[in-house]
Amino acid sequence: MTTLLNFDNRFIKDLPGDSDASNTPRQVFGACWSPVTPTAVAAPRLLACSPTVTADLDLDEQTMNSPEMLAALAGNALLPGMATYATCYGGHQFGQWAGQLGDGRAIFLGETVNRHGQRFELQLKGAGPTPYARHADGRAVLRSSIREFLCSEAMHHLGVPTTRALSLVGTGEQVVRDMFYDGHPVNEPGAIVCRVAPTFTRFGHFELPAARGDRALLQRLVDFTIARDFPTLRFAPEQRLLAWFTDICERTARLMAHWMRVGFVHGVMNTDNMSILGLTIDYGPYGWVDNFDPGWTPNTTDAATRRYCFARQPGIARWNLERLADALAMLLPNPNDLSGALDRYDEVYATEFCAAYAAKLGFVAWHHDDAELLETLFDLMWHAEIDMTLFFRDLAGLDIDNPTPVIVQDACYRADPARRFAAPLSQWLQRYAARLRQEQREPASRIAAMNEANPRYVLRNYLAQQAIDLAEQGDTRMIHQLLTVLRRPYDVQSDHETLAAKRPDWARHRAGCSTLSCSS
Ligand code: AMP
Ligand code: MG
Repeated sequence: MTTLLNFDNRFIKDLPGDSDASNTPRQVFGACWSPVTPTAVAAPRLLACSPTVTADLDLDEQTMNSPEMLAALAGNALLPGMATYATCYGGHQFGQWAGQLGDGRAIFLGETVNRHGQRFELQLKGAGPTPYARHADGRAVLRSSIREFLCSEAMHHLGVPTTRALSLVGTGEQVVRDMFYDGHPVNEPGAIVCRVAPTFTRFGHFELPAARGDRALLQRLVDFTIARDFPTLRFAPEQRLLAWFTDICERTARLMAHWMRVGFVHGVMNTDNMSILGLTIDYGPYGWVDNFDPGWTPNTTDAATRRYCFARQPGIARWNLERLADALAMLLPNPNDLSGALDRYDEVYATEFCAAYAAKLGFVAWHHDDAELLETLFDLMWHAEIDMTLFFRDLAGLDIDNPTPVIVQDACYRADPARRFAAPLSQWLQRYAARLRQEQREPASRIAAMNEANPRYVLRNYLAQQAIDLAEQGDTRMIHQLLTVLRRPYDVQSDHETLAAKRPDWARHRAGCSTLSCSS
């Protein structure tokens, strides 16, 4: 096997580490990481790998299928240059400071640099306990690993910033989980995903030293992060922290506009699950909006307060940025110095959201009056129970000289609300068609542009669940089918049209298809 992976493990070279190499649960002070060895698994098997991530890392199919690579991706052995560690971070969970959290079941394999000089951290999720595992097992189940593997790849190809997934490995071991937290633990197959990102650094990495009053460690981590992860950032020396934080605010704003345009609900937007690069990170009880519902949350733990529901995500991201600002304020003479950057978050989010929806609706540019048009549409989609993905995709097919609601029928979930809202929907389509006629754009170019803004295929919750059900029986074909189709989410793929269908009735209330618990 020729391994082309070239490691340059700067995080552990440049930042202070923990002197204890055991995985005993503990509080780790004065260090950004702990050395930790993955726990070997019995019978690893490569279930899937992403061809595009493979290529990004300068790897090829033959290498991915080699025994040495499988051993590395399972946590059973290291490749030359790899170093294994877990990082230390804290976070606000559901609005409360939760103290030290850290990589409880994510173990880094190091940082590689590809032939173009691009840096990637590699991380095994589910490779055994670390000092941050508290009393959990450090493992991951197959169902949640399939969900993370497929969704990170689907998001990337939708154009949404995200961490990536190189591989999905079955461990050949069982993991015990109480999926509904109702005292009925069962054995489930275990798995390990190898995640890949320029960095997995989170807001919580900065919050923890700040909360502990460790100014020196915070300063070192900030200096390191700006140098390694933001090399193109331009700033006057005295403006450095503000310029960096502003960049994080802008990236986060763009990410939120993406989630709101594709109908993605993260489900656990705690500050430890927020990437400083503005990437979607930590796929847990996430979900895709089927029938448009601003209050929908896929996470059963969030059902009571709906803190992390679809419509609240942009506001929560801002709240999380405020917590990061609180942490960074320790390094500034005036604690309010970062508030301008938060205003920038609001501005960029508004601009990006409007641009995204202008594209979805086929407008050349966003007009002031379009906000009211869109609000009315959201309200109708919600009450008439209309599928978000299908509706926007089908909208390109509307005859704007004779707009009839025929196109909408296909996207409705239930006959009764659809009937009740038929008249206002028809009126809305008339207004919308009139708005499009004003622009006098060539229909063919408008339709092509709309099809590039409105995906045909997203990883609907029920599709992921079907792939999981089959994989648990040993059949991984649907994982591969989804991986292939979701690489071109904006193109009609006629052999796979069933994957564009709205959620079937049987999936409306089935666990995994509608809501999920955090148990993964
Ligand atoms: P999450 O809400 O999944 O992002 O996880 C929150 C924290 O719990 C992080 O510190 C995780 O590393 C940790 N964690 C979650 N599941 C496990 C597990 N099975 N074993 C060890 N740590 C875990
Ligand atoms: Mg997490």
